[in-house]
Amino acid sequence: MSTINEMLAVNKLWAEEQVQADPDYFIRAAQTQEPEVLWIGCADSRVGPDKLIGLPMGSIFVHRNVANIFASNDLNSLAVLEFAIDQLHIPNIIVCGHYGCSGVRVAMTHSGIQPVDLWLDQVRFIYQRNQAELSKLDQQQRWNRLAELNVEAQVHNICRNTIVREAWKRGQAVNIIGMIYDIHDGLLKQLGLEFSSPAPHLGR
Ligand SMILES: [Zn+2]
Repeated sequence: MSTINEMLAVNKLWAEEQVQADPDYFIRAAQTQEPEVLWIGCADSRVGPDKLIGLPMGSIFVHRNVANIFASNDLNSLAVLEFAIDQLHIPNIIVCGHYGCSGVRVAMTHSGIQPVDLWLDQVRFIYQRNQAELSKLDQQQRWNRLAELNVEAQVHNICRNTIVREAWKRGQAVNIIGMIYDIHDGLLKQLGLEFSSPAPHLGR
């Protein structure tokens, strides 16, 4: 395990390398940010977006929590969405779930009153809503499928949100995409979830 001193040494080296390669790197970086993507992902340490989609620093505005939930009663999520759309005018929102998500597994197998249990109630409701489909699957398939259904539900939550609705109404481009990451092979997969205008089945 790295010590703090080792981390600081790596950081110093990295900063020096950036300046050697491009003397204005931090001058430009400090002036502004114009991210192309708002990334809503899981807090899991294996799914950091910078590495996964290879965009340079300043390209991704990130919001992560346990099980990549966008909850319309969560002030943090709402503030991130509002800032991303109204201040930064980010054109793409990616909701990225992942297979092997501990949060999703806990939601399937356990309930309680600890903070993480209450947070994961949102995934538990998705599990209950989709019992008919999920009960036909074995444990592993069910875990994977619930991770996908969770992404779908969060994409729909964002599409229904007033901040997004208002942006679409005034003609601002906001594209919302759902994806899943496979921690076993490092690949991102699209889930056929992409919205750039209000979808009739999500309510107008
Ligand atoms: Zn996870």
